Amino acid sequence: MKKNILIDLDMTITDLHSTFMSIWEKKYPKRKTIKIQDRKHFKITDEYPEKYKDDIKKIINEPSFFKNMIAIENAIECVKYLAKNHEVIICTSPIQTPGCHSAKWDWVLENLGEALAKSMVIVKDKTLIRGDYLIDDNHEISGIYKPSWKQIVYKQGYNSIITENCFCWEMGIDKLLEIIK
Ligand SMILES: [Mg+2]
Repeated sequence: MKKNILIDLDMTITDLHSTFMSIWEKKYPKRKTIKIQDRKHFKITDEYPEKYKDDIKKIINEPSFFKNMIAIENAIECVKYLAKNHEVIICTSPIQTPGCHSAKWDWVLENLGEALAKSMVIVKDKTLIRGDYLIDDNHEISGIYKPSWKQIVYKQGYNSIITENCFCWEMGIDKLLEIIK
C-alpha cells in the first residue's frame, strides 16, 4: 500500500558532517576533527569547546555551504526509488543560515528533482506535518501535537542509544520497505 513518508534532509539525506569537516580541516588543520561514528551530540557545535562555536557557525552560515553539500551514500538513489511507489515528502528544519530556504530548495531541486523540491516542507515543528512515517536522525523530536507519523530513526553515532526502528541507506532499500510494509 502507498505510504506517506516524510524524510528529513540534514544528516538523513545530506552529509552535513562530512561537508563541514572537509572545510574545517582545511581551515583549521591543527584543530581536532571528529569522525561521524564518534559523534556524541546531535549538534556539531556541541562536539567542540565553546571557544570554537563562532568559527563553526561561520562555516555553516556561509551561503555556499549548503550549495556544496554532499549526499550520504545511496541516499539519493534510495529516495528517488521510494518516491516512485510512495508519497515522499522532504521534511526539514530551517537552519540559521541566511537564505536557508532557497539553499535547501536549490539542493533538493538539483539532487532529487522538481517534484520533491515542490513538495518539500521546511518547518521547525515536524509534529505539525501528517504522515505515516518520518525518517529522521533526530531521535528527540517533540512539538505541539502528538505525531501522526511513526519515526524511523536514521542511524548516526549520536543516536546509537536507539536500537529499534532504525535505518540507514547502507542497509539497502529492501530493509526500509520491510519496516514500512
Ligand atoms: Mg536531520
